[in-house]
Amino acid sequence: MEKTDRTYAVTKSEDEWRAELSPAEYQVLRQAGTERPYVGEYTDTKTEGVYACRACGAELFTSGTKFDSHCGWPSFYSPLAGDSVEYIEDHSMGMKRVEVRCASCGSHLGHVFEGEGYDTPTDQRFCINSISMTLRPAAGA
Ligand SMILES: [Zn+2]
Repeated sequence: MEKTDRTYAVTKSEDEWRAELSPAEYQVLRQAGTERPYVGEYTDTKTEGVYACRACGAELFTSGTKFDSHCGWPSFYSPLAGDSVEYIEDHSMGMKRVEVRCASCGSHLGHVFEGEGYDTPTDQRFCINSISMTLRPAAGA
């Protein structure tokens, strides 16, 4: 992944991350990998709750902004709070995309796309890997 100058609240060495995360989690969160579409555990999840960073536990998204994009990955139209994620221009794969990372630990979450015409309040699609998150179901959900 591209290094940034940012200092994160949660800072660990790559060896520490490797020890804490499964190989599949490490590959997405710390090496900006992408899960295959339609296989992630939260792609179609409707359970009410909060999605937290699987690397550091920071709360990132809520089920209230999750929508059916039919793109194969969990999609949200906004983050839980403006400062819960950070944005990095990504020029890999010959395209200009905007990468979304956890603002607390810098782990890779997915990408955000804009202006695709989805019927949501923001017209943004945060396309996030299931494996980057842990769903904390709401009480009673
Ligand atoms: Zn994190």
